[in-house]
Amino acid sequence: MHVIVVGAGVAGLSTALGLARRGVNVSVLERRETSFGGTSGLNAAIFRPLETQKVMTALARRNGALLDELLGHRTAWLDNRGLVFTGQTKTLRQLSAEAEAASLVSKRWRGAELLRHVPALTGGRWTEGLWLAAGGVIDLHRMARGLETECRRLGVELVYQTEVTHLSSWRGGRWAVTTRPGPERLADALVLASGAHSARLAALTGSSVHLRVFKRTLALLQPEAVRLSHVVWDVTTETYFRAESGGVLASPCDEEPCGPDATASVTQDALATLGSKLQPVAPRLASASVRRAWAGLRTFSEDQLPVIGLDPDVPGLYWCAALGGSGMTTGAALGDLAATAVLGARVPPSLAARRFSATARRRANPRRAER
Ligand SMILES: Cc1cc2nc3c(=O)[nH]c(=O)nc-3n(C[C@H](O)[C@H](O)[C@H](O)COP(=O)(O)OP(=O)(O)OC[C@H]3O[C@@H](n4cnc5c(N)ncnc54)[C@H](O)[C@@H]3O)c2cc1C
Repeated sequence: MHVIVVGAGVAGLSTALGLARRGVNVSVLERRETSFGGTSGLNAAIFRPLETQKVMTALARRNGALLDELLGHRTAWLDNRGLVFTGQTKTLRQLSAEAEAASLVSKRWRGAELLRHVPALTGGRWTEGLWLAAGGVIDLHRMARGLETECRRLGVELVYQTEVTHLSSWRGGRWAVTTRPGPERLADALVLASGAHSARLAALTGSSVHLRVFKRTLALLQPEAVRLSHVVWDVTTETYFRAESGGVLASPCDEEPCGPDATASVTQDALATLGSKLQPVAPRLASASVRRAWAGLRTFSEDQLPVIGLDPDVPGLYWCAALGGSGMTTGAALGDLAATAVLGARVPPSLAARRFSATARRRANPRRAER
């Protein structure tokens, strides 16, 4: 069996590795010059072990275990500095219960204790904080090199500067994949791990799975004398920040809908939103100058969960896409799951691509499906 994976971000390399480990012959086609050249190399690199959905928290745990195994130990890929959620008592109480249910080591910090641990919050109107020991910052470079090296060792063909431009599956059930600059390639199965471009490629095959793409901004701030060792995520305003390169990397968690080819330009509006969201949480950061800012594309399914496994409409077409805002926290686990799906294993229903079949859509929303 020969499988072509389109895309060498975290989804593509992890799927390729999962397949190669199970003895499958794999080629990865990537239009850029290197792996992690798209969103996988342009994100905040936060490992958030407690996600909003239980299935994602479980995937984060599995992801950690897979990366530990791949790179030898946790500190090889994670700066385990801890993550502090700030917000209102009621919300943090609920998060604390979820952390306990997921067996995550956590502590609630209030008032002076929170300030002692996170002095950058001085002057803010937060009520309390929930510290998660397992949170931290991922070393994206080591993650990419680790996945790539292991893929090569297991014989995966990694083909860069090769864009997939057309897909058809009429030759005896095999896929014919047209590439620029060529040549055409044949495969028994195809995995879409092409981030924001996945749905557009799928549409070429007759698939009806839709994805939505949103732009999100990151800014490297240069505050004066702010001490910050943890990652901070304020759940009231939805903003996050962490220390980076002598400054502070922060995001207003903006969500501007766009197409897969949108330019990653930063708007003054997004930076103004960042300032106003930081003001009640960490006022000293709100007034800091912006050293550099950029934006990236996040890709979501209609229900915000990843799309994994066999397409509901197209035989031989598989998905590892819509990793949303937590692909670095869950991508290795999702890729491994996608690999097992190609070999016939069942995917949890909440993640399976088949939940977007025409029948499932009709059942979920009969009136809309009629139109
Ligand atoms: C601003 C921002 C901050 C984020 N912060 C975090 C965070 O802190 N923690 C976290 O866990 N997640 C975070 N994320 C989410 C995370 O970055 C994504 O979920 C993840 O990178 C998605 O990986 P992917 O492999 O699906 O997509 P990508 O990394 O985009 O990979 C897809 C690849 O497919 C290639 N491709 C596309 N079309 C074709 C084609 N036709 N032919 C060949 N190749 C093609 C692209 O070039 C690209 O390399 C953030 C995202 C953004 C935008």
